[in-house]
Amino acid sequence: MMPIQKMYINGSWVEAKSQKTREIMNPFNQEVIVEASEGNEEDVQAAISAARKAFDQSEWKTTPANERGKLLYQIAALIERDQEELARLETLNTGKTLIESEADMVDIAEVFRYFAGLADKNGGEMIESPIPNSISKVVREPIGVTALILPWNYPLLQAAWKIAPALAAGNTIVIKPSELTPLTTVKVTELIEEAGLEKGVFNLVLGAGNIVGQVMADSPLVDFISFTGGIETGKNIMTSASGNLKKIALELGGKNPNIVFADSDLETALDQALNAVYFHAGQVCSAGARLLIEDGIHDWFVEQLVVRVKKIKLGDGFDEETESGPMISAEQRQKVERYVDIGKEEGAKLLVGGKRPEDPTLANGFFYLPTIFSDCTADMRIVQEEIFGPVLTIERFTSEKEVIALANDTNYGLAGAVWSTDIQKAERVANQLRMGTVWINDFHPYFAQAPWGGYKQSGIGRELGKTGLEEYTELKHVYQNTQPEPLNWFKS
Ligand code: NAD
Repeated sequence: MMPIQKMYINGSWVEAKSQKTREIMNPFNQEVIVEASEGNEEDVQAAISAARKAFDQSEWKTTPANERGKLLYQIAALIERDQEELARLETLNTGKTLIESEADMVDIAEVFRYFAGLADKNGGEMIESPIPNSISKVVREPIGVTALILPWNYPLLQAAWKIAPALAAGNTIVIKPSELTPLTTVKVTELIEEAGLEKGVFNLVLGAGNIVGQVMADSPLVDFISFTGGIETGKNIMTSASGNLKKIALELGGKNPNIVFADSDLETALDQALNAVYFHAGQVCSAGARLLIEDGIHDWFVEQLVVRVKKIKLGDGFDEETESGPMISAEQRQKVERYVDIGKEEGAKLLVGGKRPEDPTLANGFFYLPTIFSDCTADMRIVQEEIFGPVLTIERFTSEKEVIALANDTNYGLAGAVWSTDIQKAERVANQLRMGTVWINDFHPYFAQAPWGGYKQSGIGRELGKTGLEEYTELKHVYQNTQPEPLNWFKS
């Protein structure tokens, strides 16, 4: 009998009320890893009620902030204790390389530590009141019940970005991982339980987005929803959240420009252009999927890139030789295949890839070859829409002004990069990019201390950094008259 992954509701591990389960698959070979309980409306309502009761009636929200911080330090320590197991589960469930999963676990412990340290530094401020004999202060309070909905590409990392600040600020939680990748979220729930969090504060529900996720977005008992995922789901959640005007934070997709000027350190820019887009088979919200190359070096750069791309080693994430694993699912690979067809129809030039690998050892996995389209123009769908796979589009530019316009010509605004040894020029360009993160002479770094999020349709709000904690708070102004006396406004 396959083990069944349970949900964690009001301090108990439970199966779905319907007894239904879903097979969780390894995308490298399509083998079933576990059966996960498949929650439905009844299960998620129970979780929301537990979180509501814990917020309204338990002592959690008034627990001193330094105590909440200590609990987060404890969770970080448990994650470090079990990091090898967590990394293996992440690779098993997502197909990403073990080395990447291991790096994720280090980052995840760091995120918990960062918010642990910030928990008791979230104090309010005194206001210089314009009214004599008064005291005016602004305090931050938890929002209440938070609903956290996760994507499949960085399952535990995305969970940590939400759980740590939500708990640091004193909220209660109902969390839902992607139905494709629940393994590490279930495991971390065990660690949170082991750390001794009181019952009802943290609740885990498993199941489909359009059922479990939809109830979370609709529920009048939820005060705040933090969602990471695709743009269409994000728009749907925003509409549902309007029912009780719950606060929302949306971390959505990207179509991120990677700008290479002719005066950049070309070897480094070339090497990192590969990493920018093909890391985790391109299934990264900040993937540098649009490469913009200055005219003078364009042809040389593209030629070199093709040589390197042909050598990328696809394989089992557990194999040390593997540089990139499979895609997450058959659907995700079909989406990539549709976009490759669209690219060809639009007249982009397919330079490499554009098909599944022929290697029979990869036949059972959802593999797709790293792909490059050159001669792309800004009006093409493959340049405008997020493909979320190993597909790079290349555009050519001749001036600083032109490349700024090209880079900004998108509905997205998550991240971008500028490569140049002329730092003043790089800064000038960076300042004009309408994106939540801009890297100069680098691609992909993010860390707990700096905010992460998107301009335009890449999202609403920010995770990480001080702002990442403030998102999980409400601001309250408390005014005190220190010498109250009658106003005598009404004479009678
Ligand atoms: P998705 O939108 O399909 O699903 C995300 C989550 O939403 C899943 O848990 C899913 O079950 C749930 N969901 C689906 N329908 C729902 C509904 N009607 N109501 C409530 N919840 C629902 O996204 P995905 O395919 O899992 O993830 C890929 C996307 O995530 C990409 O667009 C990527 O760019 C984005 N992403 C963004 C960031 C960021 O930081 N901005 C990080 C990672 C991923």
